[in-house]
Amino acid sequence: MAEPKTNELMEKIVSLCKRRGLVFPSSEIYGGINGFWDYGPLGAELKRNVKDLWWRTMVHHRDDVAGLEATIIMAPEIWRASGHVETFADLMRECPLTKKRVRADQVEAQSGTPILFTGAESKTSGWKIEKNIRVLLRKGEHIETARRKAREFLAIGSTEAQSGDWLQFELKGEIAEGAVVDSIDFHPESGVELGEARPFNLMFKTYVGPVADEDSVAYLRPETAQAIFAQFKNVADTSRQKVPFGIAQVGKAFRNEVTPRNFTFRSREFEQMELEFFIKPDEAIEAITGSVATVPETGHPGEPQANWGWQAWHQYWVEERVRFYEGIGLSRETLGFHRQTPAELAHYARACVDILFKFPFSKRNAQGELIGEELEGIAARSDFDLSQHQRFSGKSMGVFDEELKVAWAKLDETKKASLTQRYFDARLKYLTKTGVELAKAQKQAREDAEGLARGSYVPHVIEPSAGVDRLILALICNAYVEDQAPDEKGKMETRVVMKFHPRIAPYKVAIFPLLKNRPELVRKAMEVRDLLRPHLTVFYDEGGAIGRRYRRQDEAGTPYGITIDFDTLGEKGPELKETVTLRDRDSMKQERVPIAELLPRLLQNIR
Ligand code: ATP
Repeated sequence: MAEPKTNELMEKIVSLCKRRGLVFPSSEIYGGINGFWDYGPLGAELKRNVKDLWWRTMVHHRDDVAGLEATIIMAPEIWRASGHVETFADLMRECPLTKKRVRADQVEAQSGTPILFTGAESKTSGWKIEKNIRVLLRKGEHIETARRKAREFLAIGSTEAQSGDWLQFELKGEIAEGAVVDSIDFHPESGVELGEARPFNLMFKTYVGPVADEDSVAYLRPETAQAIFAQFKNVADTSRQKVPFGIAQVGKAFRNEVTPRNFTFRSREFEQMELEFFIKPDEAIEAITGSVATVPETGHPGEPQANWGWQAWHQYWVEERVRFYEGIGLSRETLGFHRQTPAELAHYARACVDILFKFPFSKRNAQGELIGEELEGIAARSDFDLSQHQRFSGKSMGVFDEELKVAWAKLDETKKASLTQRYFDARLKYLTKTGVELAKAQKQAREDAEGLARGSYVPHVIEPSAGVDRLILALICNAYVEDQAPDEKGKMETRVVMKFHPRIAPYKVAIFPLLKNRPELVRKAMEVRDLLRPHLTVFYDEGGAIGRRYRRQDEAGTPYGITIDFDTLGEKGPELKETVTLRDRDSMKQERVPIAELLPRLLQNIR
């Protein structure tokens, strides 16, 4: 069947999310709150499954990653050290009339004729003002709409104009500026020319303690990563981990996004799953192993090796993360990749690859193919983060590496000199770029380079940073399928089925007694439910015709359905006794399976 159009498809998905209890607008009974979403019964299960699987993959299944659960509000110095207080801002433009803001890089072009108004005056009161406003007159709009906006704008801040019959004051200098234009300088709703682009900090501010003054300002964390850096020493000291190792955290983050949009894609409250994987600087690797491995920029480089520098580790984590997505049903074809260009990279970053998902609302390339939107960024961030916290807190973030100390002692003088110089240069660059005065920076960089020779360094980091909510939205979009299935009477009808991968499906199996008014069927169904429930999420449903119950579970994305019928009770002979029908959501095929085999069969498919 023909694919539904983008908007139509998103509308269907949003409506299914509401209808089936995946996602609700937050505070809906009060009209909602822009940029905030709640997860209903099915959504809560889906989200929990995704986070659990990430944790199991990144922490439990590895020896080299430890977990952390930190607070949302932290010492505000953390956000000064990280740069968020100064630079975590989007460039925004404001409508001078409605005060509504839009992200400067996201204004869509508006078509119309710009009209410039240069002021107004009231003949009766003598009030007058000279101030410019440009309004876009769109096709089909009457000139009076532009005049009304100009009057409203010119009256702002003037009690005289507002209290009097300001609609009566006369506009001066109404100049229609030629032809129809396509311009990104006008607010998409008000049609009024936007002000200059200005930075707007995205952090939510609050006050800690009873006094709301500048000294008690704190921030809701805009990312989970900084707590990992701030607790790096504590984790390193208590977990018995040695570099290379990682610290993982899942938790809430808050950003006062200027234009939350595309359903949950850009929210103001969301969750992140972040790993900070700490590695040795390349100079230390070269001292220990003789040279730093180079690996191709595509494909998995295999099991970690002692001679891996940042480039191999970065490539490794990109591919590990792609494997994760493939393992929950997002095939490579549904993903895209964006390697940041040198101009896009932060000054301290060595590389950053964004993994994209091709959402129905994504932009398209010249060939009309979906490009995709960021699901996760994997950045090689050098030693910037720990170095910043070392500088701002005055506490050492360095580690001592016995292997490096021993290896260094065996190097010839030329090698020592070249590694020292390289390390010195890198440290000097970081220090001067972050504003440390040159003489002081040189002294510090020299000390750092001497430290390297004694086996000490500040670890570098590779950061795979993923958003839970974006992933949930990707999984929902990916799962949504409309196909044809027979109804009760065998007539083909459109079936909506959420083809969630069994690993993350909200419920793994639904259990249906064929008839609810037959106690022996109900009893047996409950027995099967209780057998499976300790191991899997089970949904028990005895209401309505069996076909309708199947459809409900198809829409909920439950991959398996089990029906307990009279054969199960042995009413048609001993050979089918203690067997049930097991229905596959995607193929709709049913097979007879002994109850005793259900658990191993299902577990094998969902793990
Ligand atoms: P974008 O460019 O889309 O604003 P970002 O590059 O600022 O994202 P990061 O700071 O790298 O995002 O955050 C890591 C991940 O957190 C993102 O890949 C995304 O999955 C998630 N994320 C970031 N901002 C939001 C948001 N407002 N709503 C939902 N998820 C978000």
